[in-house]
Amino acid sequence: MKLVTLGTSCMFPTKKRSHPAMLLFHDGNYLLFDAGEGAQRQLRLAGISPMSINDIFITHWHGDHSLGVAGMINCFAGNRRTNDLNIYGPKGSKERVDHLLKVFDFKQDFNINVHDVIPRGFKEVVRIGDLVVSAFRVRHGGHCLGFCVKEDDKRRINIAYTKKFGLTQHPLLGKLQRGEDITYEGKRISVEKGTYLKEGKKFCYVTDTRYFPELVSFVEGADLLLCESTYLSADELKTMERNHLTAEQAAMLAKDSGVKKLVLTHFSQRYTSANPFVKEAKKYFPNVVAAEDLMTIEF
Ligand SMILES: [Zn+2]
Ligand SMILES: [Zn+2]
Repeated sequence: MKLVTLGTSCMFPTKKRSHPAMLLFHDGNYLLFDAGEGAQRQLRLAGISPMSINDIFITHWHGDHSLGVAGMINCFAGNRRTNDLNIYGPKGSKERVDHLLKVFDFKQDFNINVHDVIPRGFKEVVRIGDLVVSAFRVRHGGHCLGFCVKEDDKRRINIAYTKKFGLTQHPLLGKLQRGEDITYEGKRISVEKGTYLKEGKKFCYVTDTRYFPELVSFVEGADLLLCESTYLSADELKTMERNHLTAEQAAMLAKDSGVKKLVLTHFSQRYTSANPFVKEAKKYFPNVVAAEDLMTIEF
C-alpha cells in the first residue's frame, strides 16, 4: 500500500500545508480520504490524475476536510466523467451533497452515490478490490468518522513443504492455494501444512477527535496509523481545542494499540515546525514521522 499525504494542515492552510486530504493507493485503486480545499490541485502536484478516484471518504463536514468536494466534482464534470462516484461520509452526508449540487452549476453527467455511514462500534463500509474499508465514530462534537482499510489475507504456498513431494510448479498448487487439500502421486498434501496465510496490510486514519479508550481497539495492530496531533501537550488547551489530540496522545494510542508506524498530521497553524511533535511523540512511540504535504509512504 502507498499513502500520499496530500494535505496536512488543520483549519487554516499555511504556506507549506494544504487542507487535509489523504490518498491511499493499492493495486490500481485510489481511495481519497478527506477532500479539503485544493485537494484536486494537490493530486496534480502529486502526479495523480483526480479522474482516477472513484471513492471519496469524508471524516466529517468541517470545511478543512470537505471544502474540496465541490472542487473534485467540478473537475470530474469538466473532464466529462461518466463512471459513478462514491462518497462515503457521516450521517447527513447525502443531504449535504444534495445541497452542494444545487449551489454550484456543475453540469455533471455521472452518478454520485452518497452513503451515510452510521457505525455502531466498528462497521464495514465497502469492499474495493481486495480492500475492506470500515468506519467507526470518533468524538469531535458532531458526526465524525475514523476509517480503517484492511487488505485481505493471502494464502501462500509453503514451497519448503511441497518441495518434499517434488511439487514446486504444478496446476495442483493453484487448488492448494484456493484452500483445497490435494493429492499428488498418491500422497495427500493438506492446506494446513502446504500453505500459510500472509496477513493483509492495515491502514487507519484517525482525525479530529478527543482521546477515548475505544480508539485503541479500532486501530489495533495497524501497519500504519495516520493520526491527527493538532497540538503539543505543553500548550494549555481551550475548551474548543479539546476535541483534538496532542502528539503525546497520538503516540500513546499507537503504543497501546500495537501499531507498527505512526504518521502525525493535522497540525495547528500556530506551530511553524512539526519537529517538536515528533520529539514529543518519540518519548512514547519510536517509529513516528510527521507528515508533510505530498509525502509518499509505502508500507
Ligand atoms: Zn480538522
Ligand atoms: Zn473538525
